[in-house]
Amino acid sequence: MIKNGSVVDLAYTLTNTAGEVLDRADAKDPLTYLQGTQQIVPGLENALEGLDKGAKKKVTIPPAEAYGELDSALKMTLKRSQFPADAEMEEGMQFQSRGAGGQEMVFTVESIQGDDVTVDGNHPLAGQTLHFDVEVLSVRDATAEEMAHGHAHGPDGHHH
Ligand code: ZN
Repeated sequence: MIKNGSVVDLAYTLTNTAGEVLDRADAKDPLTYLQGTQQIVPGLENALEGLDKGAKKKVTIPPAEAYGELDSALKMTLKRSQFPADAEMEEGMQFQSRGAGGQEMVFTVESIQGDDVTVDGNHPLAGQTLHFDVEVLSVRDATAEEMAHGHAHGPDGHHH
């Protein structure tokens, strides 16, 4: 049964409300994670708690329990001169920066018009309701090493 400290292999299909497939994993290449460490979105982690191997479940997760609501304050227009002079700037590129709270954030360049660079720091899935169709492929207790590291290790042992 899935509980904190379980290493879980999942197959899943993730779709948005329009029914478009955003991501998937199958039995050949499952998602392996350690329950209770927030490696997956909170709404999915909560929905999986208590499930056994072989369980199948459809879960609908609102933005607040997934990647958060869209934050208009994270969309801003900067001047080209605020970026390193030698940085190649193009639409769609991503860069890391520190947010107001010092946390690492990923910004995407939305548009470049003359000297104005519009960037968006929202997660690409922010504001979206997520629909997961999941199957629990296996559940086991984490090893002491995995618990110490706070993540699952693959079938071949350690991989970082
Ligand atoms: Zn490790």
